[in-house]
Amino acid sequence: MIPLKLKPALKDYIWGGNRLPRVFGIDSPYDRTAEAWMLSCHPDGENIIENGAYAGRTLSDVLAHEGKAFCGTRCESFDFFPVLIKLIDAKEDLSVQVHPSDAYALEHEHQYGKTEAWYILDCEEDAEIIYGFSRDLTKEAFRAAIEQNTLLDCVNRVKVQPGDLYFIPSGTLHAICKGILLAEVQQNSNVTYRVYDYGRLQNGKPRALHIEKAIDVTNLQAVDCSGKPLAAPMTEQGNTETLLASCDLFTMRRLDVGEQKTLHVGFDSFVSLVAIDGNGVLCHGDTVLTLYKGESVFLRRSRVTESWKS
Ligand code: ZN
Repeated sequence: MIPLKLKPALKDYIWGGNRLPRVFGIDSPYDRTAEAWMLSCHPDGENIIENGAYAGRTLSDVLAHEGKAFCGTRCESFDFFPVLIKLIDAKEDLSVQVHPSDAYALEHEHQYGKTEAWYILDCEEDAEIIYGFSRDLTKEAFRAAIEQNTLLDCVNRVKVQPGDLYFIPSGTLHAICKGILLAEVQQNSNVTYRVYDYGRLQNGKPRALHIEKAIDVTNLQAVDCSGKPLAAPMTEQGNTETLLASCDLFTMRRLDVGEQKTLHVGFDSFVSLVAIDGNGVLCHGDTVLTLYKGESVFLRRSRVTESWKS
């Protein structure tokens, strides 16, 4: 099947900036664009297919009609589409937040929980993230820190650089802070429990906090906040491939393509390609698709096509 080019869904959250349009050429109607959802079947921000026989339909709609097997054999065990991929521009600090596990989220929110991975694309000097606690807390101490505005005294603040990868299991308290541009692969969920929002107002009111649920789901043990060392990049025929993150839900890789690279898409899973730099063309049989920085493509292996061709 020809690659499907996806139109991102955009979010204008209060902390967003203008780098998604400026750096990636993403067409945005907003003054500030916080997130571009590059691969999404989530009802809060659907991707629309831009080319081929499915043009104009949402990816969700196509998957609902074609069945789970459309995404590969490993997707068949999932009740919902498993992942959500975003580009995020934090001009200001994001709220300090936590996401629940699958078990908690499916029971209370009828969505998946959220484990996520951040790949830092660019950042200001001294930009940092908040990643878990610097010391063990009890539930009572966590509640008191939220209520007394002292939460930031017990979290890890980690300086980041372009090329860093942070893996954030569900239950880890975290925040992306100002000046960071990143690519995120996460579970397909929009469940966030916000515990601290720097006293900011949106339309004259503070945004809602979700303190009880956050206390239910947050890992209160101190965590090792060092960025995960990346596997050594593999270079072959002028192309470099770096494994960024791998878990039972997704594998995230960075590809640096020199002249040309052949991509193998298996029957087990679809592949999502997000162009973070440069321009190129994607060739599949007779189809040639241009791919510009800031564009997203969904690739799958079609059994029917393959069996006819072999
Ligand atoms: Zn998060």
